[in-house]
Amino acid sequence: MEFEPVIGLEIHAELQTRSKMFCACPVVDSTTAEPNRYVCPVCAGMPGTLPVPNRRAIEWTILTGLALNCEIAEYSLFYRKNYFYPDLPSEYQRSMYDYPLCRNGYLEIDTPDGPRRVRIRRVHIEEDTGKLIHIGGVTLVDFNRAGVPLMEIVTEPDMHSVEEVKAFAIALRTLLRYLGVNSGDMEKGVIRFEANVSVRPKGETRLGTRTEIKNLNSFRALVRAVEYEIRRQIEIVRSGGRVEQETMGWDEARGVTVPQRGKEHAHDYRYFPEPDIPPLVISREWVEEIRAMLPELPRARLARFEQVYGLTRYEAALLTEDHRVADYFERAVMLARQGEPAVEPRTLAAWITGELFRLMNEANREIQDVQVPPESLVELIRMVQRGEINMNTGKLVLREAFETGEAPRRIVEARGLAQIRDVEALREIVLQVIEANPKEVESYLRGKEGVLKWFVGQVMRATRGQADPQRVNELVREALEARRASAS
Ligand code: ADP
Ligand code: MG
Ligand code: ZN
Repeated sequence: MEFEPVIGLEIHAELQTRSKMFCACPVVDSTTAEPNRYVCPVCAGMPGTLPVPNRRAIEWTILTGLALNCEIAEYSLFYRKNYFYPDLPSEYQRSMYDYPLCRNGYLEIDTPDGPRRVRIRRVHIEEDTGKLIHIGGVTLVDFNRAGVPLMEIVTEPDMHSVEEVKAFAIALRTLLRYLGVNSGDMEKGVIRFEANVSVRPKGETRLGTRTEIKNLNSFRALVRAVEYEIRRQIEIVRSGGRVEQETMGWDEARGVTVPQRGKEHAHDYRYFPEPDIPPLVISREWVEEIRAMLPELPRARLARFEQVYGLTRYEAALLTEDHRVADYFERAVMLARQGEPAVEPRTLAAWITGELFRLMNEANREIQDVQVPPESLVELIRMVQRGEINMNTGKLVLREAFETGEAPRRIVEARGLAQIRDVEALREIVLQVIEANPKEVESYLRGKEGVLKWFVGQVMRATRGQADPQRVNELVREALEARRASAS
């Protein structure tokens, strides 16, 4: 029997606003900040304190909902989700329940069979919890993260392969970055994916029993865990067993999912409306104001890069995945239009997605930390196009500029990489090349003009590209014509 995997994702993304969801404490990088520095009586859950909702966080959630093609509620409500855990100071988490801010949207992804929509069930706001730190035999708690606005995005069970899961996760992260609401830094835990996985016989329309996988700290972990869980469930069903509905943890080191606890049900949480926060009434005017804040979204930018700059879909996808890379590219395109010689957008795309990405990968550096500004890249490519340096030298110069932050032109000058300007030296090389190839000289003299180009190529090679091809062309013609004169 053939099986079809069914996957739905729940995504928690911190909203990187200036202050927390219900108090004035700042949102900080909880992986580096001094523990418990950014805590006040509100986010520490002291009795008698009053929460004040963060308007910006609500706005950003609606913005995200609009970008995900959702309906925006006219009325929304905070609830208390009650449970005990040491990272939750008030013993309830403020969250949304039956009146989420956004519902019924979708995100389009690319699949091998073309674009597909993954439906978004809901987007709502809650508050993040603190963090437990296990050291030796003790557990410490850091409340810097407690009360940070957290957006929860829930998909319908619409994905049917790990490839689709990966495409969705990347597309969503890219979208949140474009919106400027979340940095997408999975390693820092500011965006966290949980995967719900079930399998069913191909052709079956009802859903199978699912498990939920937590503790996925990277795209790699997400992909591996879903892959593993699909295989595990298929094996269970094949051997006549039944999948248990439960929460699993991903064990990265062993590469397996392990049961964590039985799945709790909504009634276990005893959700009830938060008495300290009035219902949110979201006017249609406000929604339109927020809609006007939407930037160009990733899919639109991708299509524009293909059409306007003549890039392949693959190149356009590489360049638009991070909006800062897309900005870098477009700034380079603009600069490239201004001076001489013209540099084609496709040439820029090739340098950025090829050489620059290679250097960034090696150094594990993101575009905003690259010390080669678009100006320098364009200047470098122009030097190559003018024949001042050859392609290989160009790559070496880029590497050095990347490492030192030095301007390409200065590197070329300081390292003597520029073309050979000494005409006498160049003429010497031309004569040597001509001397060494009497047969080609013959055929030129018999009228084969094309041989001239070949000689120019030989001289360029002999100078390792450090000659001006125009000048070489003149010198070669001169030398060959001198041969003709002396022959007749
Ligand atoms: P809960 O409220 O317990 O979190 P939901 O019904 O809201 O459960 O679903 C949570 C996530 O699980 C959603 O992303 C949904 O698409 C996904 N999901 C639900 N049922 C299944 C299933 N049978 N197989 C795969 N994913 C599922
Ligand atoms: Mg859930
Ligand atoms: Zn606080």
